[in-house]
Amino acid sequence: MKIASLFGPGRAVFSFEVFPPKKNGGDIASIYGTLDALQPLKPDFISVTYGAGGLEAGNSLSCEIAAAIKNRYSIESAAHLTCVNSTRAQVDAELHSLQEAGIENVLALRGDILPDLPRRHDFAYASELVAYIHQHSEMGISGACYPEGHVESESSVEDVLNLKKKVDAGVSHLVSQLFFDNSFFYAFVEKARIAGIHVPIEAGIMPVVNKKQIERMVSMCGASLPRKFVKIMQRYENNPEALRDAGIAYAVNQIVDLLTNGVEGIHLYTMNNPYVARRIHESVHNLLAR
Ligand code: FAD
Repeated sequence: MKIASLFGPGRAVFSFEVFPPKKNGGDIASIYGTLDALQPLKPDFISVTYGAGGLEAGNSLSCEIAAAIKNRYSIESAAHLTCVNSTRAQVDAELHSLQEAGIENVLALRGDILPDLPRRHDFAYASELVAYIHQHSEMGISGACYPEGHVESESSVEDVLNLKKKVDAGVSHLVSQLFFDNSFFYAFVEKARIAGIHVPIEAGIMPVVNKKQIERMVSMCGASLPRKFVKIMQRYENNPEALRDAGIAYAVNQIVDLLTNGVEGIHLYTMNNPYVARRIHESVHNLLAR
């Protein structure tokens, strides 16, 4: 099933993101333990991230996990696919594997430009990958969007205009970068609609449940941290259980506000933590009907 077809007037979509175990020393069984625990929550779909570095960096696990989600767990899946470190032939090989495995949805990304990884030049932007997938397959194509603007972008207007090119190239569903202040998301959706972007936009929500996660996240995606959020994190940073509970409560508050304001979907960055996903699901699942 194509992810775009899950959206409609009756109910907000609720989906998860998981990541494959790290290449060296990662335990493949652990991801199946995570999926066993996520399955009873009946998400509309689960997406699987693609590690930096492309095919040569051992990303075949993404395909394997996305296939298991669909075929073994009977949950719709989407495989992330980046292009900045891949040649056209490598993208062809990935698409072939995904199709062979019965996967029907791809989240097409450029990927971060990292100095220590060889950059390939067949695809400069995600929109070029989207156009290529659209032309060469029947995949449902999702794309990423940035409520606070992408870090490399000169302005949020320029970023939305670039997003429009990506949607016009064949994206039928968008998932947002994480954010902690819903007003950024609302302003972004308004700009996107004015720019003529009419595909469903899911809000990406990351529950922050430990100190390391906060540091990594801020340096990576540049999300603004509202005063209220910083105060909570500072107050409980040395009390892991309190920090976890406060992080869950903060995410639940964000989701309640988003659903109240008619968001089309919530994409939960689970960080492979089914306990946190379950607590959040318990708190909001009765609110998903619209
Ligand atoms: P693009 O859409 O290509 O945009 C990148 C930048 O280029 C933006 O500043 C944009 O404004 C600009 N731009 C776009 N088109 C043009 C144009 N035609 N001319 C000029 N400028 C242009 N990374 C991973 O490595 N693996 C993952 O699995 C992964 N999953 C993600 C999931 C989500 C939901 C999100 C939000 C991000 C994810 N990322 C992942 C991170 C992502 O790869 C980075 O944010 C990356 O820097 C941008 O990717 P993109 O697909 O948004 O790029």
